[in-house]
Formats: sequence, structure tokens, C-alpha cells
Amino acid sequence: MIEIEAYRRVAERAVGRRIARVDAPDDWYLKAGTTAAALRAALRGAQITGTRRIGKLLLLDTDQAVLGLRFGMTGRLLVDGQGPIERLEYGSSRMEPAWIRFALSFHGGGRLEVVDPRRLGGVVLDPTLDHLGPDALAIGPAALRDRLAASAAPLKAWLLDQHRIAGVGNLLADEALWRAGLDPARPARSLTPAEARRLHKHLIATITTLGDRGGSHMGDLQVARARGATCPRDGTPLLRRTIGGRTTYSCPRHQR
Ligand SMILES: [Zn+2]
Repeated sequence: MIEIEAYRRVAERAVGRRIARVDAPDDWYLKAGTTAAALRAALRGAQITGTRRIGKLLLLDTDQAVLGLRFGMTGRLLVDGQGPIERLEYGSSRMEPAWIRFALSFHGGGRLEVVDPRRLGGVVLDPTLDHLGPDALAIGPAALRDRLAASAAPLKAWLLDQHRIAGVGNLLADEALWRAGLDPARPARSLTPAEARRLHKHLIATITTLGDRGGSHMGDLQVARARGATCPRDGTPLLRRTIGGRTTYSCPRHQR
């Protein structure tokens, strides 16, 4: 989500521009029934009016249609050949023309390009958004508490479920739970109101701090994310488990 927010700011450079050409050379990259012909019909001549981010989905609003972009682990967004100022860790900064999976050319010059070596991202025309939970940065402490209280899922799995809360990836979830001192395996509904507030506070702070540092891989726990590693806070050997289908690191001492 931190990376996607950086790409949203890149996409802001295209706001106000009018689309002259749509290049969608890779059918596999077009998702949810989207076709190159539909993209051209909907977007040619359209003006980009704004950008939004919901979780890991970047939305480009135009005066004709909405374009949804997903980046997976290796996708990048360039406008006029420029990405975010800070180079992101994931994906190669090398560039091969074949990696451009989608591009918009603008009237008067300039281009928006999605570069994705591993093709893990995708492009959707007019994406449906009802299946996404509220964005993690937009949810309030009371709403988070109420949503947690309704679920028996382990905390870590709950945080990763984009239907419940959008935008929290694996590293971010581990870092936030580590900072909040909460065991990732605890049922979501077992949190006391005070613990839910603490989780909310640390979730927001983690997203903000790691965003400033340049990505979700920049967490304090991430540095220690290796077998046999110890907790940066108290030196206890870290626990490595699979929770919610993902490798999860936590401290058995201070995360309760
Ligand atoms: Zn610890």
C-alpha cells in the first residue's frame, strides 16, 4: 500500500491531461473481462480528472471511465519516464520495452506507463469496488474495534483480508502487530477496546513511518526477519509461523 500511495502521487502528474492513445499489448494483463478494444473505446479522448487509492488498487478517474491499476510485487508506474523520487526496493529498476504492459500517451506529449517484469499486476476498466473494505489509513478507531469484534479470524489473517480492511500487506501486518505488542495468532474478537485502540494507533503510525522511510520492507522487524533472528526490542528469539497462509514473524515475549 505504501508503494501504491507513492505511485498515486506519480499519477497525479497526469491529472488534467487528455489521452491520445491507449497501448494494451498484453491480453493477460487485462483483468475482469477488460479488453484492449474496450480500453481504447473508453479512454481515447478522455481527460484524467483525479487519482484515488483504495488499499492496493490505484484508480485513475477520467471524464469517461475509471481505470484501475494493480502492481503486484514487481509493477511500477512511470509518468514521462519518471517514477517515485525514492527508488522502491521491489522490482528491478532495469527497463526493457517488453515489460511495458500498459501505456497511455497524452495529447501534447508525455506518457503514463505500467512496467511489470513478472506480470503480477493488472489493468481493469471500471473496477467494482464493493468487495474492498475501508482503506487502512481511512478507518477510525471505533470502526476498527467494531470490525475486529465481529471476527474469530487470527489477527494477522484479519489484517491481510482486503474485504475487511484494504491495503495491509504481509510485512506491514507483522510490523504493526510487533509494534502494538499483539500476538498475530490471537482471534480478532479477543482484543479488548484498549488493545484495539493500540492496534489502530500503531497501524497508522507504521504505515506513515514506513512510507517516509521508502517502503513496507523498511520496518524494524523486517531487518530481523530471518530464521533464528531476535526481537529488536527485547532480544527474544522470534517465532516463525504460517498464519493466514503467510509467513509470520512475531516476538513470543512482548507480543501477547
Ligand atoms: Zn519482543
